[in-house]
Amino acid sequence: MSTVTRFAPSPTGLLHIGGARTALFNWLFAKKHGGKFILRIDDTDRERSTEEATAAILSGLQWLGIRWDDGPFYQHQLLARHMAVAQEMLAKGLAYKCFATQDDLTAMRAAAVAANRPPRYDGRWRDRPESDAPAGAPYVIRLKAPQNGETVIEDMILGSVTFRNAELDDFILLRADGSPTYMLSTVVDDHDLGVTHVIRGNEHLPNAARQLQLIRALGWAEPTYAHIPLIHGVDGTKLSKRHGAVGVEYYRDMGFLPDAMCDYLMRLGWAPGAEHPHLTKDQAAPLFDLSHVSKGPARFDLDALTSANFHFIKEAEPAYLADVARPFFEKELSRSLSDAERDLLVKALPGLKERAKTLPHLAESGAFYFRSRPIPMEEAAQALLDIDAKERLRLVRAKLGELADWSHDPIAAAIKAAVGELGVKFPAVGLPLRAALTGRTNSPGVADVLDLLGRDEALARLDEALS
Ligand code: GLU
Repeated sequence: MSTVTRFAPSPTGLLHIGGARTALFNWLFAKKHGGKFILRIDDTDRERSTEEATAAILSGLQWLGIRWDDGPFYQHQLLARHMAVAQEMLAKGLAYKCFATQDDLTAMRAAAVAANRPPRYDGRWRDRPESDAPAGAPYVIRLKAPQNGETVIEDMILGSVTFRNAELDDFILLRADGSPTYMLSTVVDDHDLGVTHVIRGNEHLPNAARQLQLIRALGWAEPTYAHIPLIHGVDGTKLSKRHGAVGVEYYRDMGFLPDAMCDYLMRLGWAPGAEHPHLTKDQAAPLFDLSHVSKGPARFDLDALTSANFHFIKEAEPAYLADVARPFFEKELSRSLSDAERDLLVKALPGLKERAKTLPHLAESGAFYFRSRPIPMEEAAQALLDIDAKERLRLVRAKLGELADWSHDPIAAAIKAAVGELGVKFPAVGLPLRAALTGRTNSPGVADVLDLLGRDEALARLDEALS
């Protein structure tokens, strides 16, 4: 049987770090086994589900590059089928009508609390005839769950987890208004979609026991479960907004690359080994192994995400990087870049991308290429342009001005010739030259900068610094 996984978010908010990791683990597992990854939107809660949240989840996944092979399926469109299954179970005696009133349930709960027992439905309508209920009384449909024995989940991450059936009650399949519960809808859809592996956050572990009871009552194939431990903040507490419980697109806007984000997300619980310090998700898929996912909570650590970003910016193709970095350059410059400037950016990126941790950092370091004169000068750069330095730059300016061929090698040779004539070390020329051209104390090599700025702009910047 070929592997089918699914990501089934409830569209009630953004695609958070935890949800993105669940989606990625499902994607990785499906790829590893040559299977299929399905997206299902669990939107049966019509009050809390919104179209904005659905759109945010889809665009978050798209940004991360997590493509689904099938779907998205919208669970609320499948409700009739869920209801039909409940009715079928009722007809077969696998489920029953429960007429307990709100008052009955409140009293039941109070009695359980008083007796120090977990509050559970006591099964009072399990064997009672419908005729005992007042005519037309509202009812819910409950599963006739096993009352003895155990339900054991063989979880790929957590191992064997045992639930005593006596502690699980006859849970509701259909509410009084006829609507199916999450428990029923999930089981029916997972079955109908052929899901073989249910990989999700471990807050769903108790649901797995109930879902298994339901699946067994129906005589359906049981999926394999894998419950992923929670993500905590660096300080070990639950992930809060401050730590990063925000939508993944927040990280896009902060200048993180999707490859860095995926590399980081998959390490929240899974360690591919020291020989793989960084992996794209395609590289990771063949290595992915759920049985090596840690049982303990993972820790969200912005520094580790930043290191991954540093790596993937350095590795990125200039043309791709130019497109994703362009908005950050435009923000830095407070204007848009022309297409010619975008081409210049592609050429400038190999020299810039070695040192940037984020895209705003990249834009900050490379904006000088696009500034108009007079270019802004950092104080430390200005300080390099003292009288003696300017004297040396005049000779460089003269030699550059004579160049017939404005390209890297002749430029470098001209600078070298000036350095030789002046009898100084290279930095005595290189540092003020960089300051005059970029307004900064660090930049790519000066010959590259001169070459990319072009003769007219480069000489004009020098003349301005010398005036
Ligand atoms: N829709 C559920 C949620 O977002 C997940 C359902 C499941 O994975 O079984 O929490």
